[in-house]
Amino acid sequence: MSAMVIVGGGHAAGQNAASLRQEGYDGEIIIIGDDTHIPYQRPPLSKQYLSGEHGLERVYLRPEKFYEERNIEIRLGVTVTEIHPDEHTVTTSSGDTVNYEKLLLATGSRPRILNAPRSDLPGIHYLRSVAHVGSIQAEMPQAKNVCIVGGGYIGLEVASVAVSAGHNVTVLEMEERILQRVTTPEMSAFYYELHSSYGVNIVTSTAVSGFTGEARVEQVLCGELSIPADLVIVGIGIIPNIELAEAAGLECDNGIIVDEYCRTSDPDIFAAGDNTNHPNPILNRRLRLESVPNAMEQARVAAANMLGGDKTYESIPWFWSDQYNLKLQMVGFSADGETQVIRGDKAANQFAVFYLHENKVVAVDAVNSPREFMVCKQLYGQSVDPEKLKDLDVDLKSLIE
Ligand SMILES: Cc1cc2nc3c(=O)[nH]c(=O)nc-3n(C[C@H](O)[C@H](O)[C@H](O)COP(=O)(O)OP(=O)(O)OC[C@H]3O[C@@H](n4cnc5c(N)ncnc54)[C@H](O)[C@@H]3O)c2cc1C
Repeated sequence: MSAMVIVGGGHAAGQNAASLRQEGYDGEIIIIGDDTHIPYQRPPLSKQYLSGEHGLERVYLRPEKFYEERNIEIRLGVTVTEIHPDEHTVTTSSGDTVNYEKLLLATGSRPRILNAPRSDLPGIHYLRSVAHVGSIQAEMPQAKNVCIVGGGYIGLEVASVAVSAGHNVTVLEMEERILQRVTTPEMSAFYYELHSSYGVNIVTSTAVSGFTGEARVEQVLCGELSIPADLVIVGIGIIPNIELAEAAGLECDNGIIVDEYCRTSDPDIFAAGDNTNHPNPILNRRLRLESVPNAMEQARVAAANMLGGDKTYESIPWFWSDQYNLKLQMVGFSADGETQVIRGDKAANQFAVFYLHENKVVAVDAVNSPREFMVCKQLYGQSVDPEKLKDLDVDLKSLIE
């Protein structure tokens, strides 16, 4: 008998299974994931779960009984090794062949591995899974000096957890500024100041050239510079998991190519999440995103279309990051704007930077300003008077047309 088969086991996989049931599908649903946990949220792994504030139960996307009650089968610790599109089957690491009616590839992404001498020393970690957090937590209490390679969101979130727990923390960033790939020089400077005020040592324009140590890592080398480190966490980006799709002959280019229906070049195979290269009709370009909202929405769209619908994916990208007691929420891409309007008080850590292109709102970075973030989602693409935008006496909602 054929089933809806979902390859993955993360955000997109869990949501797709739930959406298939919500859409009324009552046939067999099988999730095949190589992780040993039921689908869980990754954002807390560098935030509340790493710090110990949240336990595993709060990290799971949905409780185990959710899947049981809806008769959703989850095969954990199993890798899909091959897809046979002509036969409508997949083969797995446990030796099974599973028939599918429609297939969803929700294979996500994996950490980019640092290629430097001795980077296999114990004490050097990556952060993508619950198991990774377990390894870090086992070593963190004994570590005096924590070194983070990569000044992106994950690295900075880990820095905030580690320095708050009393460790000496150094962040090494290859680019000229932290968060260079994702935000403006002004926001990078704001976060640099913030981390420095908590005692994090940030070194930019510095590439790791290797590590030293006997039984475990002792130093991180950056050319002439050497940084003492008992624990290293590497966060230098991700690589989408597309090899399975490529081997099956699906079209891929920096992600699995999907159309607005989340359909791949094979009409019975869909893809959702970090692994897709997808069209965004609002931004009028193709994107590959690494964000939960994208994975969840694509999973919903794919579910509707796996059941014969014609739902299209049209969302403005958004993302968030928690560092110390600051919640940053972003909509759109700041690089799309040529002018910035600041609303709020930067010194009080409560402000929103609106980015405008020809006076139209194209992005916002909102720090501890959830209202500005929500309204900006509605203001997106709309012309606004910059003077009104920055005036705290003007209710932002009144600007929505
Ligand atoms: C530490 C951390 C913090 C983050 N913080 C944020 C945040 O604050 N906000 C935000 O929006 N996003 C955040 N992200 C990004 C977000 O978690 C991802 O965008 C999201 O997890 C993507 O979901 P996904 O389902 O596409 O992939 P994933 O969650 O990566 O799940 C894919 C799963 O498929 C498995 N898999 C791959 N190939 C196979 C195969 N052949 N067979 C079986 N299983 C397979 C993988 O091992 C993985 O378990 C964070 C990510 C990390 C790692």
